[in-house]
Amino acid sequence: MLTSAITLSVKLILRKIITMSGDDKAFDSLEGEIWFDGKMLPWVEADVHVLTHGLHYASCVFEGERSYNGKIFKLREHTERLIMSANALGFEIPYSADEIDEACVKICNVNGIVDGYIRPVAWRGSEMMGVSAQANTIHLAIAAWPWPSYFSPEARTKGIRLKTAEWRRPAPNTAPVHAKAAGLYMICTLSKHAAEADGYDDALMLDWRGQIAESTGANIFIVMGDDRLHTPIPDCFLDGITRKTVCELAKKRGIEIIERAIMPAELGSATEVFLTGTAAEVTPVGEIDNYKFTVGEITRFLIDDYDRVVGKKTTADAG
Ligand code: PMP
Repeated sequence: MLTSAITLSVKLILRKIITMSGDDKAFDSLEGEIWFDGKMLPWVEADVHVLTHGLHYASCVFEGERSYNGKIFKLREHTERLIMSANALGFEIPYSADEIDEACVKICNVNGIVDGYIRPVAWRGSEMMGVSAQANTIHLAIAAWPWPSYFSPEARTKGIRLKTAEWRRPAPNTAPVHAKAAGLYMICTLSKHAAEADGYDDALMLDWRGQIAESTGANIFIVMGDDRLHTPIPDCFLDGITRKTVCELAKKRGIEIIERAIMPAELGSATEVFLTGTAAEVTPVGEIDNYKFTVGEITRFLIDDYDRVVGKKTTADAG
């Protein structure tokens, strides 16, 4: 009991070090500037009031973008998704796609981010504090920070370990499932915490029908015995920008993609599994519950192809 509590604490501390910005300060205490409603603010002054609709009622949408070698990968797609997510929650971001793109680039330049992560976030403000939010103004802020890898390098080479979550992705008629909406991440945090408490890296989430959906922050691909790439139909979760990129890369390699309903028991015939996401990039999965997989050829091809298409510096470039 005591040993497992100590092991968990050590793992949590290590994970904190890995997932923080490389600095041991909390995210509200870093140095730099944050783009906030059209102005550049010192990082520590980019506050919202405690009586903010977005905080109480999850009227908040966001994006996660990566800059590689000084260029934000698929910036316009992320900006368009941000605008679409806000519309799905019934509000308009008061900036055009061009203005948002420009602000993302500016915040990277001002903070000297060459390889990093960009986080635009839009939310309803404080004019009304109740379920109805008709009069609330809409805010937009954009932060950027250096960010190496979402999972530890060791987990990435061996394949990460997933545990199936008890929580399910909701049906499309119960939530705006295609929006990158803050409220939807409540289920993800619960699921990820439960997986981490059992020593896993992340959770595999099923959808409301019991079909395989995704992990808590990335889409999933499965190589079955037939050397084809199977992936769930994104009808109740984000059709990730990385997912679409990887589908194109696989097609270029002549690998057939099958989008279909996949049941968890089918993992018994899977040989390779990997996740895709802006933060996760292409991350091999070594284990889901009692099923084990190898980091095989198709996964390795797609890791390399993805690194190349995003413009990542390879070890040879760095050399
Ligand atoms: N699903 C969820 C729940 C996510 O948070 C993400 C990351 N945005 C993804 C999938 C992958 O999306 P993308 O490839 O656009 O980053």
